[in-house]
Amino acid sequence: MKSIRVPFTDLGLQHQRLRPALDAAFDEVITSGAFAGGPFVARFEEEFSAFCNSRFAVGVGSGTEALWLSLLALGVGPGDEVVTVPNTFMATAEAISCCGAHPVFVDVDPVTHTLDPERLGDALTSRTKAILPVHLYGHPAHLDPILELAAHHGIPVVEDACQAHGALYRGRQVGTLGTVGCFSFYPGKNLGALGEAGAIVTEEPAIYEKLLRLRDHGQSRKYHHGIVGWNARMDGLQAAVLRVKLPHLHAWNGLRRSHAARYRSGLSDHPDIRVPSEASYALSVHHLYCVRVPNRDQVLNDMADAGITCGIHYPVPIHLQEAYRHLDLGPGSFPVTERSANELLSLPIFPELTPDQLDLVVDSLRHAVSGRATPKRSLVMA
Ligand SMILES: *Cc1c(COP(=O)(O)O)cnc(C)c1O
Repeated sequence: MKSIRVPFTDLGLQHQRLRPALDAAFDEVITSGAFAGGPFVARFEEEFSAFCNSRFAVGVGSGTEALWLSLLALGVGPGDEVVTVPNTFMATAEAISCCGAHPVFVDVDPVTHTLDPERLGDALTSRTKAILPVHLYGHPAHLDPILELAAHHGIPVVEDACQAHGALYRGRQVGTLGTVGCFSFYPGKNLGALGEAGAIVTEEPAIYEKLLRLRDHGQSRKYHHGIVGWNARMDGLQAAVLRVKLPHLHAWNGLRRSHAARYRSGLSDHPDIRVPSEASYALSVHHLYCVRVPNRDQVLNDMADAGITCGIHYPVPIHLQEAYRHLDLGPGSFPVTERSANELLSLPIFPELTPDQLDLVVDSLRHAVSGRATPKRSLVMA
């Protein structure tokens, strides 16, 4: 077994560089005792809404909670339908189900891997309570036609921006174009906490007020519970960590973009490798870099043999998950998503990657796809 030469991600490197600032932030929180919600969360909310150019931000416990509380704040409940995509992380659909509502899936565009607006109209019914596009892999969904259709039917739009902090749609921050935008600060995201955290951004005061209550047991005054909510507050420690990291997000996204450009220039001429492309309306922040290759599983193994850890996002589409078997949506229901599940390979992409590592990934992938990777057998025999 060869040693890992290019890991899929390396948070250790990022934290090593920020360690003195992180230690100081911890010290400040521990001294203050403000652990659950409180002033550090409030300061992070101000800074994150400034970053997004949104009016309000609400810190919560995770991206999943951000999605769930957003839907609750919009009044989504039992029997309602929420339209989303089957090519996403489970949390998107889970949030819908946890409101007692039904996810209704629309297949994705084969190039951007995000909700195909052409198919959206057919999915809307009188029971549709929200549309939930996902800005997947850091690339914005095509929002204009989605927002237009939503406005026409009077349906709110919840943006799942959990993979797209800082991505732009026609120059505007994703998360701020719909009714609400949801972010995750899971450690591996473009902006990651040292644990679980998430946030919701919105322009609307009434939704903001509702979210503040929902995340704090439905109370607006201590021990006076106007509605049934939940404990979904952000930790003070996570807010303090995020305040240390947020000023770096723009530069980190820039590095991800330049790594993506290097991959593109090294790979795009290969006849059997399809590199991701950016739509004319989009500025992607490349949370993931997913290429389309033949014999994907074999290529994944060959890359691992070369010391390069790749990933698959996502191997099983949501409609084919066991948890959603009751929806009775078998293979063939969403062909674009199903094809992506079999063909997409995620290459390592994180800010601290070096040019040498990027070039090694390029060379190894070209070899693996062309079938010229050294077979394991000959290594053993040598
Ligand atoms: C990470 C992620 C979530 C959930 O965020 P958590 O903070 O892990 O709960 C939701 N949707 C998408 C697309 C994600 O990538």
